[in-house]
Amino acid sequence: MPTYPTGLRFERIVVPTPYAVGPANVYVFTADPVTLFDCGPNTPATENALLLGLAAIGVAPQQIARIVISHSHPDHYGMAPRLHALSGCEILIGRHDRPKLGDSSMLVATGKLLLQAGMPMEELVEMGHRERRLGELRPEVPVSGVLDGGERLAFDGFGLNVLHLPGHTAGHVCLWDEASGVLFSGDTLLLDISPNPLIEPDPQDPSERRRSLIEYIASLDLLSGMPLATVFPGHGPPIEDPKGLIEEMRAHHRERTERLAKMLDGAGKTGWQLANELFPQLEGFDNFLAVSEVVAHVDLLIEDGRAEQVERDGLIYYRRARTG
Ligand SMILES: [Zn+2]
Repeated sequence: MPTYPTGLRFERIVVPTPYAVGPANVYVFTADPVTLFDCGPNTPATENALLLGLAAIGVAPQQIARIVISHSHPDHYGMAPRLHALSGCEILIGRHDRPKLGDSSMLVATGKLLLQAGMPMEELVEMGHRERRLGELRPEVPVSGVLDGGERLAFDGFGLNVLHLPGHTAGHVCLWDEASGVLFSGDTLLLDISPNPLIEPDPQDPSERRRSLIEYIASLDLLSGMPLATVFPGHGPPIEDPKGLIEEMRAHHRERTERLAKMLDGAGKTGWQLANELFPQLEGFDNFLAVSEVVAHVDLLIEDGRAEQVERDGLIYYRRARTG
């Protein structure tokens, strides 16, 4: 068990997910109140892996007093209702991610945004089928409270600060132990995987799309100013050079933005057209990721005044800005 001079101690349990991202991490803070940071998806394989993992570190599911969910994606929260049934634990999540838990209206709003971005209806229907084939991945979660960032979670012997770091989702939260420089980052920082700035409705106005990459880059700026030593992400091994990773991600986004800038013309292209131009070989769920990726980067060009958005026949087109 990693232990730190600050008193911080925790275990990492790796659980399988049915997603391309691969296994997910569940962090268990074994000091009282026993707390999980994320809990994996709602699949039998995850339940087995998690219960075995807990048994191996001497934690009975009944002892779980609190689950903190980093963000509202099913690979991070699906097991929460099951664990709640076993333990009666408290469940906390970022305020802006609360509406997305087990609420299909946000999925419908996301579908509308994808159609506006030019995704064909057949693709959208197929996405829905695929999701259902995977099972009951978005169960209702009995949430007991929301986090805004700035809270301090007290444990016997140490405490963790809640940071609201939006980008990957609107209400993404991370846990931070300033004295040891340890950050539990959820999907805000991942090694070898660029966290997708997914197309997502604005939690305040679901008919509007969130400017997720603009938020994400602001979160990276904030992280780069922090004394990060080791980052424990939502997927994969610990990140030992967080500063280097943050610089890499910034460079990656700059590069992609420049490529898209060159692809824009004066007439306008939809997110779907740009995605197919940038990633010609994509299929299935990857299409959703690709469209998300493209519109998120075009947002940066719009913010810089280098691109503009026009609406025609219910579709959103992006074109080079007509600067005078
Ligand atoms: Zn994830």
